[in-house]
Amino acid sequence: MSDDQALGITESKEYNTGEWYAEVVQKAGLANYGPEGMSGFIVTRPRGYALWEAIQNSLDSAFKATGVQNAYFPMFIPESYLEREKDIVEGFDPEVAWVTHGGHNELEERLAVRPTSESIIAPYMAQWIRSHRDLPLRVNQWCSVVRWEATDTKPFFRTKEFLWQEGHTAHETQEEAYEETMTRLGQYHSLYEDDLAIPVMEGKKPEHDKFPGAHTTTTVEALMPDGKSVQAGTSHYLGTSFAAAFDITFSDEEEEERPAHTTSWGLSWRSLGALIMTHSDDQGLVVPPTVAPEQVVIVPIWQEDTEEKVLDYARELRDELAEAGVRVELDDRDERNPGFKFNEWELKGVPVRFEIGPNEVDDEEITVVHRPDGEQLVEDRSEIVDAVEDHFDEVYAKLYARAEENLDENVRDAEDRADILGTIGQHGGYVRAPWCGNEECETEIKETIAAEIVMVPFEDDDDRKLDAVAEGCSCAICEEEATETAFFAKSY
Ligand code: AMP
Repeated sequence: MSDDQALGITESKEYNTGEWYAEVVQKAGLANYGPEGMSGFIVTRPRGYALWEAIQNSLDSAFKATGVQNAYFPMFIPESYLEREKDIVEGFDPEVAWVTHGGHNELEERLAVRPTSESIIAPYMAQWIRSHRDLPLRVNQWCSVVRWEATDTKPFFRTKEFLWQEGHTAHETQEEAYEETMTRLGQYHSLYEDDLAIPVMEGKKPEHDKFPGAHTTTTVEALMPDGKSVQAGTSHYLGTSFAAAFDITFSDEEEEERPAHTTSWGLSWRSLGALIMTHSDDQGLVVPPTVAPEQVVIVPIWQEDTEEKVLDYARELRDELAEAGVRVELDDRDERNPGFKFNEWELKGVPVRFEIGPNEVDDEEITVVHRPDGEQLVEDRSEIVDAVEDHFDEVYAKLYARAEENLDENVRDAEDRADILGTIGQHGGYVRAPWCGNEECETEIKETIAAEIVMVPFEDDDDRKLDAVAEGCSCAICEEEATETAFFAKSY
């Protein structure tokens, strides 16, 4: 194998998605696997972290514009705190990592490494909230959490330690808290559609798959090109269960003491996994210009006698673009030829390439190449700074359109058990079927084909015409009366 081949992607996205994904993550310089003995942990390299920062910046400003403040809580939670809300203990117990010693001394009380922070944030909210004037209260923290996942791990999609944000809010009424839950779900939705070029569907998790202790768990789900769904972010209306467990009460206008209604919502670096998986190809990473660490790479092409004029032209262009706020890189390395550079920047996922040779200099032009489909165009040098944003928009639109087509083509209806199994088996994607609401019916499907109910649509969602079940339908599995429309899928 030549050096160039060893650098590039060797697995096929279509035929070997798992291995291909692992190769892209490593060869594009996004992450490495953790040390031996620590399976399920990853090291995030600067290129991977830069993508996470882009996601972070977008969400953080959306949160701040809607009344959320950042705070930070300890990474350990005393066992007695965790035990105060019984569903949290039961739900997370199999995945909690425990600290039992500080130095050589055994601790009096074990400390949980936070799998999520409701149990340490709620008691402080209880201290901070006295009256209705202290509400709504909204805090968010950017941190990592640890869940000792029993199922297979995969960089970014499912790791034992992962970066995320967790928002926690308290409100006077159920209506306000529910509205908050939906606001945050909407912000996740926008992140995917407006920053990551990934269409998502909104819905609720079935009762048996809610966040521990939650009244309602809402989710955004994204469909990957291999037909599996990703739970891409979740927003929970927690009702008053956490308020009751941790005494979060307030005195209302009549001086009556009432429990607060709380919410929590989290989005992790799984979003990064979805981004990489959705757009990348057999040449390597593909990301939209919105989040790309470098939006444009300039590759100058010269011979000895044209070196000076080509490089001067390229440097001036680089400076002008940088001045205009474009994230631009000039690859003027002497020791690499243009073909090598093209491959390397394709592998690394730079969405737009500018090629400059002596002809471009003479004609005062620039050859522009779009990463996703290799489309080549020629632009006037004098107009390039204005035109570059249009190229970004076009690249974004191409990526979004491809992902949207995948989603639109892969929502199918099924009326009975055989239909659900056959359709998911053959095509993957989502299968929409009437459902009675009983977990046993899902279990039957899960045990046969490892697909589950990833969401039930909101009744009034006209965005993607996710019609709730028609009256009089019977459950596709048990034939009892159907009460919900279930979206079955295999998932990450
Ligand atoms: P939750 O607190 O369980 O609602 O989780 C919030 C979000 O974090 C989920 O919607 C997932 O997208 C993501 N997530 C959950 N577990 C993991 C994991 N092990 N690795 C990466 N992301 C995760």
